[in-house]
Amino acid sequence: MTGRRLVELSGTAATTALGPDSIIVIPTGAIEHHGPHLPLNTDALLAGELAEAAVDRAAADGLDIWILPTLSYTKSDEHHWAPGTIWLSWETLMATLVDIGRSVAATPARTLVFMNGHGGNGALLQVANRELRRRFGLRTFTMPAGIQRAGTGAGAGGGAGAAADPLAGADELGLGIHAGHGETSLVLHVRPDLVDMSLAERNVPEHVAGFEYIGFNNRPVSFGWMSNDFGPSGVIGDPTLASAEAGATLFDESVAASVAALHEIARFRHGAGQS
Ligand SMILES: [Zn+2]
Repeated sequence: MTGRRLVELSGTAATTALGPDSIIVIPTGAIEHHGPHLPLNTDALLAGELAEAAVDRAAADGLDIWILPTLSYTKSDEHHWAPGTIWLSWETLMATLVDIGRSVAATPARTLVFMNGHGGNGALLQVANRELRRRFGLRTFTMPAGIQRAGTGAGAGGGAGAAADPLAGADELGLGIHAGHGETSLVLHVRPDLVDMSLAERNVPEHVAGFEYIGFNNRPVSFGWMSNDFGPSGVIGDPTLASAEAGATLFDESVAASVAALHEIARFRHGAGQS
């Protein structure tokens, strides 16, 4: 429970509270199939919990930082085949991000940070970064909600670069990008009542690991895919060895790294004399 929820202020108080150095964070999640063992709101839940914890700690450090409600409906078309997935087209999400940026730009704040809990949003958020800078002059940033310390990998737990889960077993082959060890452990940590481990099943597309250039993350050749290209379970990874203990470790390390990243964002300027 953070005291930094911007929408819990009155409009008058929000305008007074915000200034040109204020940072506004918006978690981006998803409502999408996460296999038989995890809830549909896994990505929205984790993005919100990780972002609120990071914002709280950054605020305690003295940063002028505020959080907006999680954008839960996003681009989940890779899971369109699974009932319960509620997804926006890329056109709708792009227009939504532009409209949010326009609204943020109407406040005194100049910095907007997307903390993303769903890998499928990553490419569009990169486009939005530039679009919102060009149209509204905002400083814009995108980072995974589940992030690792600099130098150890791209992210964990459902964000862009989600394969880099340092606690995953070797049997996941670095392919645990959806409902696998990392995400399942994190949900076991924050909302164990929403997980049914008796239904967790391993579904690793092992043939993909045999390609040197083609892959999901940190490989030069990407490819278009639907989650049911890899079988009917909706899982891409191995959740069977997930644990609340691993989730606690991933959560704490992610929050620490996010706070460090937010400190960098607070002092980042594009160049001398640039806003
Ligand atoms: Zn997810």
